[in-house]
Amino acid sequence: MPTFVYMTSCDGCGHCVDICPSDIMHIDPTYRRAVNIEPNFCWECYSCVKACPQNAIDCRGYADFAPLGHSVRVLREDTKGTISWKIKFRDGREKDFVSPIRTTPWGSIKGPAEYAAPGADAMASQQLAHEPEALKIAALPALRPDQLKKGLV
Ligand code: SF4
Ligand code: SF4
Repeated sequence: MPTFVYMTSCDGCGHCVDICPSDIMHIDPTYRRAVNIEPNFCWECYSCVKACPQNAIDCRGYADFAPLGHSVRVLREDTKGTISWKIKFRDGREKDFVSPIRTTPWGSIKGPAEYAAPGADAMASQQLAHEPEALKIAALPALRPDQLKKGLV
């Protein structure tokens, strides 16, 4: 669902330009408002939608779940800690979804070089980097032998 900008709501602050990983949000030099210059290259990450303080960015839903006449709106509310989606179908039905903001605070992610180098035994491990600590669990869940089909133990 590529995004587009309601130019009448946009104030040209440029937050969407800064955050777009595909570098397709640009400020129109004539109107000084944001514009998605290449929707085909949109990652559909919605970073711009959530970052826009004016709620000026919308997305075009794909026809299979939001055919013509639909609308899809997303609203990020820092004070409530929520991201709300409202999908309106052309027959008037509406679906609302609310999820918590899970944004990681700026500067809180350690780069790979800040971790100790992995030992040789890490190459033979089935765990991914920083598991299980990064998942905030003591150990990854594993099947017990008595849960396996007979004969596979
Ligand atoms: Fe850029 Fe993502 Fe917005 Fe698409 S949805 S314009 S990739 S920030
Ligand atoms: Fe306009 Fe919103 Fe982009 Fe700011 S973040 S330039 S208000 S579309």
